[in-house]
Amino acid sequence: MSTSTQTSNLVAGGSFLLEDRQASEVFTREDISKAQQMIGQVAEEFMRREVMPKAEEIYHKNWPVSRELMLTAGELDLLRIDIPEAYGGLGLDKVSSAYVGEQMALLPSFGATLGAHTAIGSLPTVYFGNEAQREKYLPKLASGEWIAAFCLTETESGSDALAAKTKATLSADGTHYILNGRKMWITNGGLAELFTIFAKVDGEKFTAFLVERGMGVESAPEEKKLGLDGSSTTAIVLENCQVPIENVLGEIGKGHVVAFNVLNFGRLKLGSRNLGQAKLALNTAISYAKDRHQFNRPIASFGMIRQKIAEMATRIYVGDAMVWRTLGMVDDTLATVDPNNTMQTLKAIEQYAVECSIIKVWTSEALAYVVDENVQIHGGYGFSQEFSAERAYRDARITRIYEGTNEINRTIIPTRLLKGAMREALLNWKEDSKPATEPSLRTATANAKRAGIVALQSAATKYGETLAREQEVLGLIADIIIEAFAIESTMLRTEKLIAKQGETACAIPIAMTETYTCDAMERIAQKLRTLHAELPNDALANAIALHPVNTIATRKQIADVVIEAGRYLW
Ligand SMILES: Cc1cc2nc3c(=O)[nH]c(=O)nc-3n(C[C@H](O)[C@H](O)[C@H](O)COP(=O)(O)OP(=O)(O)OC[C@H]3O[C@@H](n4cnc5c(N)ncnc54)[C@H](O)[C@@H]3O)c2cc1C
Repeated sequence: MSTSTQTSNLVAGGSFLLEDRQASEVFTREDISKAQQMIGQVAEEFMRREVMPKAEEIYHKNWPVSRELMLTAGELDLLRIDIPEAYGGLGLDKVSSAYVGEQMALLPSFGATLGAHTAIGSLPTVYFGNEAQREKYLPKLASGEWIAAFCLTETESGSDALAAKTKATLSADGTHYILNGRKMWITNGGLAELFTIFAKVDGEKFTAFLVERGMGVESAPEEKKLGLDGSSTTAIVLENCQVPIENVLGEIGKGHVVAFNVLNFGRLKLGSRNLGQAKLALNTAISYAKDRHQFNRPIASFGMIRQKIAEMATRIYVGDAMVWRTLGMVDDTLATVDPNNTMQTLKAIEQYAVECSIIKVWTSEALAYVVDENVQIHGGYGFSQEFSAERAYRDARITRIYEGTNEINRTIIPTRLLKGAMREALLNWKEDSKPATEPSLRTATANAKRAGIVALQSAATKYGETLAREQEVLGLIADIIIEAFAIESTMLRTEKLIAKQGETACAIPIAMTETYTCDAMERIAQKLRTLHAELPNDALANAIALHPVNTIATRKQIADVVIEAGRYLW
């Protein structure tokens, strides 16, 4: 069952650069239904009542405690959301799934255990398993009886995942594959019973296998990490691991299809979890800033601290606009496909690869900013393990590295856009009429999108087929496109809010939208100038446009409300 997300039109992935959107067409956080909220509330209560009291045990890697909690999560249906009803799941939409993910931010270590299990751990079987594989494994994953892990990375192949060396050799009697190799950095490595392992059949054909621990999977000792102290991360050692041929997942030689599509879902779900962590950090910062006195005043009264708090709130508001918009698009598209038709489902999600990469990059960098400012607002206490700001800072760091590093995701954004039908549409794009000049959010949005298209066109013209090698240029273009998506998503969220609540009630969302758009247009302009120096042409020079706002005043306005409320409100 897929729940409608109240948006009316199906939107093609990547089309945001070319097409204008109306607020009524996008899904926003405010559109989350009562039913979707309810499952989120169950998750929040589970985190507060069951998980938080066990935090110290979890941080000390007391795995029986984590296992017990996973069983409780299963009883509360929190592991069933993405699993079809026929296999013991609830078959709910991605909005519900992401809303649950957001609540996991209360304890990111446990969030990593549960998140890896429900996303990269279970989704390979959900989307690529055949009937027998789904029947055998999904009920166990849905209940938490078995924990799942995803084993792609190796010691010498991380970003370049297809260079994996783990081998799968067919046994002489043809009944099973023999896997040999070593996987690295596997979340749930010390806990899992079911592993999706990528190996090369005959050293060549990259293939996914469903491997039970009992088939010969060994876990190396726990890695000593910078953060996520309470999540299991180990290498996985495969020495003559015997995997029956019926446990090949998907087709031989098509492991990349499994890996990359599952990672797309992972990136999307990571977005709401990142913002959940950011909200908690902001709330902690606000309450500390109100309590802490220096110069006989709460530090929350100092302008520089207030500007930081306003910026933290703004980034969260923008991030939510991007994440829920994309979740809505994905759900709308998934609602039109037969969930038992893997190819249809894949096509549906694959087309949003650009948006998923944007969300991964943007939300992880917003989180990095927020947790860093949280430490700064705490001063020396932010550096102390006695305060939560220190752990929040450490736990956030990984989000820019896993699920495809932010560098890899940046390369995906322009290169995917320049593939297939979208390529032609983007390269043939011409301005219909003169760009609008009156200062408005709609004008800024149009200008930001124009900047992205012109940058893509300029680079494709100059470098042609070799563009993929011009990483400096690709990175700048990706940043412009990311900003365009951020600006538009935020404007649409705010327009939708205004339509519901009226302008007066939306003063702070408007201030956040104006603030972000002003700064983002400056960043776009700076990147266009850098590109212009490398690829001089009039189109790039003419694409530079700003959206001037008195952001000192707008941030003051935002800070007044957020600090008075004592927490993030939207
Ligand atoms: C806590 C944790 C949990 C993890 N969980 C899992 C898991 O469950 N399953 C799993 O399979 N993996 C997991 N990983 C692995 C993670 O996905 C990889 O670390 C990540 O993909 C990067 O690979 P790498 O570490 O080998 O870095 P490398 O690929 O060596 O990259 C090093 C640096 O070079 C950059 N770089 C590499 N190639 C390019 C390029 N083409 N262009 C530009 N820059 C480039 C990277 O962006 C990075 O900055 C986990 C890692 C950690 C730390």
